Amino acid sequence: MSEGKIIVITAPSGSGKTTLVKRLLNAYPKLAFSVSACTRQPRPGEADGKDYYFYSEDRFKTLVDESAFVEWEMVYTGKYYGTLKSELQRIWDNGRVPLVDIDVKGAIAIQDAYPDASLTLFIQAPSLEILRQRLESRGTESVSSLEERISKAGFELSFATQFDRIIINDNLEAATTELLDTVQAFVQE
Ligand code: 5GP
Repeated sequence: MSEGKIIVITAPSGSGKTTLVKRLLNAYPKLAFSVSACTRQPRPGEADGKDYYFYSEDRFKTLVDESAFVEWEMVYTGKYYGTLKSELQRIWDNGRVPLVDIDVKGAIAIQDAYPDASLTLFIQAPSLEILRQRLESRGTESVSSLEERISKAGFELSFATQFDRIIINDNLEAATTELLDTVQAFVQE
């Protein structure tokens, strides 16, 4: 497997990560979004192969047995997510740099697997209260799912210092600039 660089972005749910990831991908065509596999249902507007590879639990478990994942995890109760080795390779083969958008434990697993090749970034929402407001106004979660996401966010915050860089998203423009500059410096190294 001929390996290149990897950019890993992680953040508690609701920290504004999705917007930042979109801006980053628009700014640098050399980056390619690494599509993860998952077993949750698609949300309205999500497409298979673009947002995720939406697999059945059986298919996912077969791929685990075949060692097809760099990392995988049950991110939420009964819902599996994982980074496929074939996806990273597809992007490297195209001469591009994968942008991996995953949860904190997955990000640490990739950092361990590719210590020199990876840049790990943690996007931090200003506070858990603001995070709650953002998730509520997004309106995509049930009450129990929202509570699970907030409790996970509190837990994830405690890992922030393990990453190469923490970007605090209290001002979207400032966070975008900081993110673009950090990524550009790494990709050009
Ligand atoms: P969502 O269900 O909101 O799309 O994503 C839920 C969480 O799963 C997010 O924190 C997202 O970063 C994480 N996630 C997405 N893909 C992967 C993956 O391949 N591996 C791991 N470990 N987490 C992932």
